Amino acid sequence: MKKHKRGTTTDQLMRTCDATHIAFDLDFTLCTYPLTTAQVIAETFARCSVDADAIGPVEDLAAEYDALWQELDLTAGSARELRLAIWSRLLTLRRRDESLAATIATVYAEVRRETGVLLFEGVADTLQTLRDRGYGLGLLTNGIPELQWEKIQSLDLERRLDAIVVAGDVGWFKPDVRAFVALLDRLRAHPAKTLFVGDSYTGDVVGAHHAGMPTAWISPGGAVCPGPVAPDYVLASAAEIGRILP
Ligand SMILES: [Mg+2]
Repeated sequence: MKKHKRGTTTDQLMRTCDATHIAFDLDFTLCTYPLTTAQVIAETFARCSVDADAIGPVEDLAAEYDALWQELDLTAGSARELRLAIWSRLLTLRRRDESLAATIATVYAEVRRETGVLLFEGVADTLQTLRDRGYGLGLLTNGIPELQWEKIQSLDLERRLDAIVVAGDVGWFKPDVRAFVALLDRLRAHPAKTLFVGDSYTGDVVGAHHAGMPTAWISPGGAVCPGPVAPDYVLASAAEIGRILP
């Protein structure tokens, strides 16, 4: 058997999936942001008349911002609280005036809200095709509920999908199996017949696998599988899903 990557074989790539339901992660699986974190920071600094050079390279700030977001978002009470905590920390680390944090956090939120999110190319048609073919469709997303619902509504996903679970609403976050069970209950679906599609190896692939679901890992850059739980399929985008269905 020819090995392509760790955990991915020719047989696995050729095998089609016999799922009756398909469930998706949201961020960087179905949708993305038109502006990068660095672009939002640059625009925020321009609107606040903050001298970006005095604070530090925007790309470095963006990398730290994203890392802190990943670290803190499951415990934050609100998006406003989280953005304020992140900017306070970033400014303190750079020995800058921490009182700027509230203004920067507010304007950052405005820029993100104005520019919104968009579905990846081909995803809208793919969801419609799957629905036309009779698949039950679901969504399970981590993150702060107010932000996730804002994105879900702006992308019209309540109309496009049969069941949506925002983990913060049910109190269990991916990769916790209970988050997946909450979605399966709402879909009235059997785990072995529900393909989970997501870009996070740990949150989506490992979590769904432990919930008894087959998995498709979205790996646009063709990254090597980083752990011992092999995804059943590897796709460059959610819009490619037709390739693994009968
Ligand atoms: Mg994701």
